[in-house]
Amino acid sequence: MSTDIEFFGADKIGGCVTVISTDTSRIVIDFGEDLPGCENPDKSPFDFQGTDAVFFTHYHGDHIGRIGEIPESVPVCMGETSYKILQNIWERVDKLRSRKMKERESNNTLLLFKSEATISVGDIRITPYSADHSAYDAYMFLIETPDKKILHTGDFRAHGYHGKELIPLIREKVRRNGERDIDILITEGTMMSRNVKKVMTEEQMKEEAGNIFSRNRYAFLICSSTNLDSLATFHNAAKSFGMQTFVYSSYISKQLKTFSDTAGSSDRTYRFSGYYLLEPEKQLTHEKWKKPKTQAQFMRDYGFLVIIKPEDYCRRYIEMFIDLTPVIIYSMWDGFLNVNHPAYNKIWDDFLKEQKGNGAEVIYLHTSGHADPDTIAEVIRAVSPKEAIYPIHTESSSGFYDLDIPQELKDRIVLLR
Ligand SMILES: [Zn+2]
Ligand SMILES: [Zn+2]
Repeated sequence: MSTDIEFFGADKIGGCVTVISTDTSRIVIDFGEDLPGCENPDKSPFDFQGTDAVFFTHYHGDHIGRIGEIPESVPVCMGETSYKILQNIWERVDKLRSRKMKERESNNTLLLFKSEATISVGDIRITPYSADHSAYDAYMFLIETPDKKILHTGDFRAHGYHGKELIPLIREKVRRNGERDIDILITEGTMMSRNVKKVMTEEQMKEEAGNIFSRNRYAFLICSSTNLDSLATFHNAAKSFGMQTFVYSSYISKQLKTFSDTAGSSDRTYRFSGYYLLEPEKQLTHEKWKKPKTQAQFMRDYGFLVIIKPEDYCRRYIEMFIDLTPVIIYSMWDGFLNVNHPAYNKIWDDFLKEQKGNGAEVIYLHTSGHADPDTIAEVIRAVSPKEAIYPIHTESSSGFYDLDIPQELKDRIVLLR
């Protein structure tokens, strides 16, 4: 009786795959793509022989992007809402994938799970626990085999709206107040290499957004369409200044609706009430108005937050309001704008420079989707694994030795290549 753990691409941010097998069962956790500009991409085909199921921690491309390579006979498992969010994306950009996944629905090779509902795969038990991340419906997995208890953190942080629940969850649910020991901790370490000590919380970012909107109520926002916390941050901050939220595509509108119907059903923070599809020429009427006005006039009267993408067809919307000196908020990872980084996105960088030249105000306001080193240390102390700590999803696993954790835990760190 022995449990075996194999790692692929652990020394990179993105594209990490973990394989856990016992004498009779084998599961794979995450099967994603490398980040753009990755220097050592893994293109080799993966051997799914003997795999009973693939579990996805969340819907980010670096965790789920290679789902199409998984043989149709191997079941895939993900969070219920993750699947809805992904279908919204696939229906827009990858209709074939969308159809293939629907086929999986009908032939029972797609399993959708909920937080804390244990799934058995042969002699392996997997319990997903909801985690705070820049993707909604992200999970940590507790994996119990006949001889080992393993916690795989997936991507996580503690500075989102549900971040405060992280440590109590580990103490009370994963560890059962000390009654359950964890042998092995597999943890992400993205921020170990991004030289950050403390990061801004979503609450702090909301306050900062409020400061911007208090002096400029004409705002365009560049933010990931799947980053629920940050979308809620800006939407709610704008709302408190009477500004209306607009989206430029029916795709983003669909994502906001999915978020409102799922996360928003139990938490007001995530209820995107009152947002409109951007149609500036559309005539609007209201009982309190003497005559109809265009949507563009309505936007000028009330102020607006427009969620855009730095693509060509968004330019005309900014031009339309350029006389108001609108603010463009860039709320995504700054690596995309760093000319020296392999992930540099010239189109976005040029777009922002051009808008600045046209008279718009450009502001960079973003918070990470990943735990800062102090939070990683807190998680390690709370889990206190008996046997080993495997850092994955990191370019700086040796940074784990600098964490504020007892020496006996440092001794259990295993650096992977
Ligand atoms: Zn990731
Ligand atoms: Zn992620």
